[in-house]
Amino acid sequence: MRLKILGTGTCIPSLQRCSSSYLLLTEKYKILVDVGPSVVRRLVEFGYTTNDIDIIILTHFHVDHTADLSTFLFACNYDVEPRVKTLILIGGQGIYKFYKGLLNIYPWMLPKSYRLILKSIPKGKLKLENLLIETCRVNHNRESIGIRIEENGNITFTGDTDYSRNLVRLAQGTDLLISECAFPERKVKGHLNLSVLRRMVSEAQPEKVIISHLYLEWEDFKGVLYTPYLIGEDGMEMDI
Ligand SMILES: [Zn+2]
Ligand SMILES: [Zn+2]
Repeated sequence: MRLKILGTGTCIPSLQRCSSSYLLLTEKYKILVDVGPSVVRRLVEFGYTTNDIDIIILTHFHVDHTADLSTFLFACNYDVEPRVKTLILIGGQGIYKFYKGLLNIYPWMLPKSYRLILKSIPKGKLKLENLLIETCRVNHNRESIGIRIEENGNITFTGDTDYSRNLVRLAQGTDLLISECAFPERKVKGHLNLSVLRRMVSEAQPEKVIISHLYLEWEDFKGVLYTPYLIGEDGMEMDI
């Protein structure tokens, strides 16, 4: 699998870091994890269109993770080439209500030329040929999920979360953990800082950790991070 980081930021508008989002290229599927503000633009910037994406997974419904879902679905109807292939949209508890609510506001999002499959997977597995997607509940919103995706290698996304035992289990021995770490030092309920992330990493033992969902305080961070940690940047790519 190949990972392209589309964004490593938060709800704070920034030219350097667009809201946290990731594109995962697997053998058969292109998976978009979260689709916050400017993510559709980032896709285009990196050479993809909305029609390339097969699966969208929402870690939760906060605006910085979902605002561009309507942009995305609108483009599927009215892009130069309207979308034909099926799109799978996966989320935690309440995904149907969330989608219906959006559709009430933006009726133009309703798929015209393709099939949209909604899947609610608050905690469970979805197998698509060689691909396995597994989710668990994490500590942020009611609907928040962590995601592990396996093909030959595997990758785990924390989404936004505070310390989570479920996540420690889900991320056990993972090749790459993409973790939120909102602040280096400050501890805010529902988010991680470095010291809580270190505790989770010592328990889950991932091979590598990329930290993301970075608030501005990270720009003044003077510390040094050692293996397995790497600070995420928009546009970063790696094989898993
Ligand atoms: Zn967020
Ligand atoms: Zn959030």
